[in-house]
Amino acid sequence: MDAHDHSHPPVAGEVDLAAQLRARGMRVTPQREQVLAAVRELGHATPEQISESVEGVDVTTVYRNLELLEELGFVRHAHLGHGAPSYRPAEDDHIHVVCHSCGTVVDAAPDLVDGLASKLRSQSGFVLDRSHFTVFGRCHDCADAGAEQNAAAKR
Ligand SMILES: [Zn+2]
Ligand SMILES: [Zn+2]
Ligand SMILES: [Zn+2]
Repeated sequence: MDAHDHSHPPVAGEVDLAAQLRARGMRVTPQREQVLAAVRELGHATPEQISESVEGVDVTTVYRNLELLEELGFVRHAHLGHGAPSYRPAEDDHIHVVCHSCGTVVDAAPDLVDGLASKLRSQSGFVLDRSHFTVFGRCHDCADAGAEQNAAAKR
C-alpha cells in the first residue's frame, strides 16, 4: 500500500475543511471531518492508527480521505520507516530525524536542510520537498552502543 502521490500541495492552514469541500463541489462528510480531527489530535499517525481512533471507518476509507485531505493541503505525510506513511497536520512544518536501530523520531526545524536545499536548487534547479524529507541514521545512544560492540569484536 504505497500508492499515495508525492506532489507538493499548498498549505491550507486554518482554512475550514467544510468550506474547501463545498468550494470544490465535494460533499462534506462526517468521516472527512473525523479523519482530519484524528490527524490533528494524534500528531503523527499511520492510516491504521487513524482508523483505530475513528470509530466505524476502515483503513481503506481512511487512506482515501487522507489522499483528499493532502490534495486540499490539510495534511502531509512522511515516511518514518519501512511501513505505512505517517500523517500530520500540514501547518506543522518540520523535518524528521529517525534512528534505524531504536526507532526514535526527532522533529527537527525545517532549516536543518537549508544547505542541501539551496545547493540542489543552484546546481540543478531541483526543488527539495522538505515536508517529505526524512533523515535516517543512528541516534547518539545507538551509535555509542555500536561503537562499543565494534570495540568488543576487535578484542
Ligand atoms: Zn510519500
Ligand atoms: Zn537509537
Ligand atoms: Zn514530525
